Amino acid sequence: MTTLMGKTAVVTGAASGIGKEIALRLAAQGAAVGIADLNLEGAQKVADQIQQLGGRAMGVAMDVTSEAAVNHGMDKIAAQFGPIDILVSNAGIQIVSSIDTYEFSDWKTMQAIHVDGAFLTTKAALKHMYAGDRGGVVIYMGSVHSHEASMLKCAYVAAKHALLGLARVLAKEGAQHNVRSHVVCPGFVRTPLVDKQIPQQAAKLGMTEEEVVKHVLLGDTVDGTFTTVEDVAQTVVFLCEFPTAALTGQSFIVSHGWHMQ
Ligand code: NAD
Repeated sequence: MTTLMGKTAVVTGAASGIGKEIALRLAAQGAAVGIADLNLEGAQKVADQIQQLGGRAMGVAMDVTSEAAVNHGMDKIAAQFGPIDILVSNAGIQIVSSIDTYEFSDWKTMQAIHVDGAFLTTKAALKHMYAGDRGGVVIYMGSVHSHEASMLKCAYVAAKHALLGLARVLAKEGAQHNVRSHVVCPGFVRTPLVDKQIPQQAAKLGMTEEEVVKHVLLGDTVDGTFTTVEDVAQTVVFLCEFPTAALTGQSFIVSHGWHMQ
């Protein structure tokens, strides 16, 4: 239970869903975890839960689209727990509509959270990881939509594909400073992000919600099963623990066979 003892981790969007489970798992392995989220109350609740389990964590208010907020939040976490060793850039939202009706303001919001947020948090974390070449691990929360397209998700698919490029550049630039990077790509996970889009997709595609789940969300899996937050968190912990750059710049698809590479 101590594989990450002495490490400082930051997980964005960790007040809920996938990020919350990742934070719990990293803390269980001994990392001190900064729970960074727009929702400070939710972030603090997760930090409290970790502390009650004997771990170390703090909640931090952070809008990942704001350079000032990101830098301030990262500095606060580093001041409390020491320099950042692990960044999980996970915060994300979903807005669905066809390209011809997609609002430009929604497109920009999506790119700001998923792509700008990944860039800004990476830049802030590298300040710590590059110092003295102490190194670290940066993990981006991609999606099967980093590799596949689905109707109604132009901004999400474009943003999740962009993360592959960012991770690969970081793998090359970061190697000389002992920094590794990956993209973890889940299939559908039952979190608030997905629960919200089921009725929206049903309305737009003229299907029942059950049909959307069976045919749209899980139709291409090998077993008709949702990926779980535990599946994703376990993958992230494995990548954080992996000791060398034998694994870097990779995309790990966790999707019940929905997408195979
Ligand atoms: P979620 O809605 O449960 O949690 C997302 C969290 O991000 C929330 O706590 C929210 O407050 C936070 N957030 C939103 N905007 C933010 C901002 N600007 N700054 C900081 N925090 C912000 O969603 P989830 O399903 O756990 O999704 C987490 C990540 O996993 C996202 O990047 C999502 O695209 C990705 N993902 C989810 C699924 C899925 O099926 N749920 C599948 C593949 C990838």
